[in-house]
Amino acid sequence: MNTHWTPEKLTQLNEIYGNAYPEDVLAWAFQTFGSTVSLATGFGPEGVVLMHMLSRVTPQMPIFYLDTDLFFPETYALRDQLQEKLGLTFLRVTTQTSLSAQAQTYGDELWAENPNLCCQIRKVAPLRQYLSTQQAWVTAIRRSQTLQRANAQVIEWDRANGLVKLNPLAFWSFDDVWMYIQINDLPTNALHEQGYKSIGCFPCTRAVLAGEDERAGRWAGRQKVECGIHLQPGATSD
Ligand code: SF4
Repeated sequence: MNTHWTPEKLTQLNEIYGNAYPEDVLAWAFQTFGSTVSLATGFGPEGVVLMHMLSRVTPQMPIFYLDTDLFFPETYALRDQLQEKLGLTFLRVTTQTSLSAQAQTYGDELWAENPNLCCQIRKVAPLRQYLSTQQAWVTAIRRSQTLQRANAQVIEWDRANGLVKLNPLAFWSFDDVWMYIQINDLPTNALHEQGYKSIGCFPCTRAVLAGEDERAGRWAGRQKVECGIHLQPGATSD
């Protein structure tokens, strides 16, 4: 851990910001880290909430997305809508490994054969490289999304990537997110209308059935529930 961000310091900060308005956390982050903090988004509803807040409070904060080249067309359409409606620009972070190079080395459907390796190549490695240029990053994760996220703090040390991680929506519920979106008339992924609740790459995402939890459509039929970008050393994604 960076000597400045001791556990005591993080505890102190969480006492102040642990239940704060997410806008206040964004403002603190930008005041503290300047251009070396950025918001990560996969264009989910939580990301839309944070982008809306950021556009009002800290519009200079960079926003990046990890483009696996395997998003649904509806996701790219939402990116363009947000760009226009909120006046945002997005930094595209991507792997050096093209889909054809991946297919040549590992076969046409690595996501079916070995999704952990596919996520490692297309998400985890490019994220790590990008974050090596940053002092902090902001994510849209919530504690109630998965067991692996249940202990997420609003401000924490990201051991996997060696920087501060901010989760301003950690204590928000699914309903809080959608209420904010409705009140502020924000665009969301058109696939939500078709039963998709959590949306990632198209080969690994399906609509959710009645009674299933919100991330049941991700890597359905596997134990895997995380792509790995939010896992800390020692944890496993399946
Ligand atoms: S979510 Fe699926 S397709 Fe996307 S990087 Fe992970 S395994 Fe590959």
